[in-house]
Amino acid sequence: MPVSDSVSRPDTDADGQRLPINELFASLQGEGKLAGVPSTFVRTSGCNLRCWFCDSYHTSWDPTHAWMALDEIVAEVETLAPTHVVVTGGEPLIHGETATLLSELADDYHLTVETNGTLETDAPVDLASISPKLASSTPTAENAPTDTDTSVWTERHESARIDLDSLASLVEHAEDFQLKFVVTGRDDMAEIESLVEDVRGVAKREIRDSDVLLMPEGQTQAALAHTRTAVAELAAEFGYRYTPRLHVDLWNDAPET
Ligand code: SF4
Repeated sequence: MPVSDSVSRPDTDADGQRLPINELFASLQGEGKLAGVPSTFVRTSGCNLRCWFCDSYHTSWDPTHAWMALDEIVAEVETLAPTHVVVTGGEPLIHGETATLLSELADDYHLTVETNGTLETDAPVDLASISPKLASSTPTAENAPTDTDTSVWTERHESARIDLDSLASLVEHAEDFQLKFVVTGRDDMAEIESLVEDVRGVAKREIRDSDVLLMPEGQTQAALAHTRTAVAELAAEFGYRYTPRLHVDLWNDAPET
């Protein structure tokens, strides 16, 4: 079981202009301000965190991918109909080539970058979908999705999951942004309230309550059934926005949705 924040570079032709791609497909955006918008997803492999509930296990805990040249990726995107492109992961910003890919797509597509908020970028981004990871995301021996000893990741994840400077930079840089929290229950709310205030304190841009989205934890329809209503009610109570996981509601945990 690989336990690395990134993925091994290929031995040959490592010219820096390729990305490890886990999936590339067209579907509907399932989460956030653009939920329901037809979108092409470019899912890179590799992450610098290890949330126990990661819904893209094969980009983090067990990364699998094919190395694709950037022009191959652009050509594949061009064969698909959507004018919105979502660059996601894993954590796409761990790869320097992601910025190049975004620059190459920027003239022709609306670009969303889905990030855990621990890294900055100067690449063109229309919507920064920033998902800071709460304490409830930290893997432990009890909740980790693998039998492998994950103690190194318990500490590493916990120490790396929040970077206020990166959060502020992402909020300021993109045309639009959202702070999207995976919520397991009411116990997460104090940390969300505190973190939103902390980011407001350092970001030179207004963060409205409507830019803060609460998304229920759950990778399957059965799991979402336990969290969805409670998280929607928390959003209403705290004045934040609720976001569904439309792809789970529609297609459960099927790949390429
Ligand atoms: S930050 Fe995202 S991709 Fe990385 S482990 Fe957490 S949920 Fe998975």
